[in-house]
Amino acid sequence: MSDRILMDSFSRKVDYLRMSVTDRCDFRCVYCMAEDMEFLPRQRILTLEEIYQLAERFVALGTRKIRLTGGEPLVRRGVVDLCRQIAALPDLRELCMTTNGSQLSALAGPLFDAGVNRLNISLDSLNPERFRELTRTGDLTKVIAGIDAANAAGFQRTKLNCVVMKGRNDHEINDLVSFAIDRQLDISFIEEMPLGTILEHSRAESFFSSDQVRELIAERYTLIDSTESTQGPSRYWRLAEAPDIRLGFISPHSHNFCATCNRVRLTVEGRLLLCLGNEHSVDLKAVLRAHPGQPEKLEKAIIDSMRIKPYRHNFDVNDEVQVVRFMNMTGG
Ligand code: SAM
Ligand code: SF4
Repeated sequence: MSDRILMDSFSRKVDYLRMSVTDRCDFRCVYCMAEDMEFLPRQRILTLEEIYQLAERFVALGTRKIRLTGGEPLVRRGVVDLCRQIAALPDLRELCMTTNGSQLSALAGPLFDAGVNRLNISLDSLNPERFRELTRTGDLTKVIAGIDAANAAGFQRTKLNCVVMKGRNDHEINDLVSFAIDRQLDISFIEEMPLGTILEHSRAESFFSSDQVRELIAERYTLIDSTESTQGPSRYWRLAEAPDIRLGFISPHSHNFCATCNRVRLTVEGRLLLCLGNEHSVDLKAVLRAHPGQPEKLEKAIIDSMRIKPYRHNFDVNDEVQVVRFMNMTGG
């Protein structure tokens, strides 16, 4: 195994890469996208071969975990083959994917066979009409069938992701926990982040904190604090009533996790984002295209980029937008 590591200027080891494989999506979730999104033209996005080359370089430099995301990763043609290629990189410990689940009934089996280790599946409501309202286009039946297909395919420790919005789905929190327990899934509740301008609602008004989510869950279950960590914005708890599942709370507005941040993100345009809440970035697509067949140039650009990784983000609950890019561009 290669013993190279990526280290930023605050001595944080960066060994986790989140890669957006497309900005496109079959849903238009109200917190993520505007209704009439314009997507990137093909020539501006990385080819699958380029995504693979970048993954290969990062793994050579010490990346041990890659998460493929988007947009909706499963709407990109060829994504299963890309997973197979990346999963075969010998030094990679874990290949994960975050998906909205809409295509999983057909693709869960092929993804498992391709070597994907774990899935996160987004689910914000168990009510078909509300699900449609929050995703604007989504079909809840298909997503639940996709979740069941992931379990049937053999995926373990699948995690549900739920963005909680005041007045929209906060009253469903315990039903979602109960759904997760029934299917033996982990579940994380996410605070909405101010990424991109949206007109559908005021983010400040819909904000629902992780503390409030925990208070509601404590009305029905016994929460046990857990020290488990992924070095990111998640904090984990267990339930006395269902000790096998992990309950996560993703609170991006808190800064507690910045000191141990181990991750960077690659947009589908090939821009390496050093922090979710800041604009610091490096154009790796330009380096890749200017120096074909010269992986050492790419390695140097990646190593140099570590110098501009900011110490912390600056999200503030009361600000509507601090970062102009949408989550689908960012690779949530
Ligand atoms: N399409 C896939 C999905 O929905 O799971 C992957 C990409 S999506 C951008 C990744 C995660 O980001 C989803 O769980 C989604 O709920 C979350 N997300 C999107 N916009 C967000 C926002 N403004 N604040 C917090 N979470 C957001
Ligand atoms: Fe699509 Fe995921 Fe964004 Fe929803 S959260 S619009 S599913 S990319």
